[in-house]
Amino acid sequence: MCNCIFCKIIQKEIKADIVSETENLIAIRDVNPQAPVHVLVIPKKHIASLNEFEKSDEYLIAEANILARKIAKSEGISESGYRLVLNTNSAAGQSVFHIHWHILGGREMTWPPG
Ligand code: AMP
Repeated sequence: MCNCIFCKIIQKEIKADIVSETENLIAIRDVNPQAPVHVLVIPKKHIASLNEFEKSDEYLIAEANILARKIAKSEGISESGYRLVLNTNSAAGQSVFHIHWHILGGREMTWPPG
């Protein structure tokens, strides 16, 4: 039984602000937003990080991108611009070891990222 916080949100054991839900994904607002729009797209399948991502999981990349595109549009950041971020392991700042994409938008982004 998976015990991670995102699995508990997916199983509705812990509350979250759900933006969208599909058969394979859930999208929630980040509790500690780093931009005016900060939504997490999370596969329902528990995959700890991109390092554990298998070829058979590739459908999730397409579905996550399509869902992110839809959310960006509904959040009004499609035209101004937004960023998708996938942190992997400690140097990148991954803190929840259940793979997820951050959708960040609603402000100017800098490059390179911090
Ligand atoms: P990362 O650091 O890339 O692993 O991203 C994990 C993100 O999950 C962080 O931005 C946290 O603020 C966010 N987070 C952690 N717990 C929750 C929660 N219960 N509901 C919503 N977002 C969360």
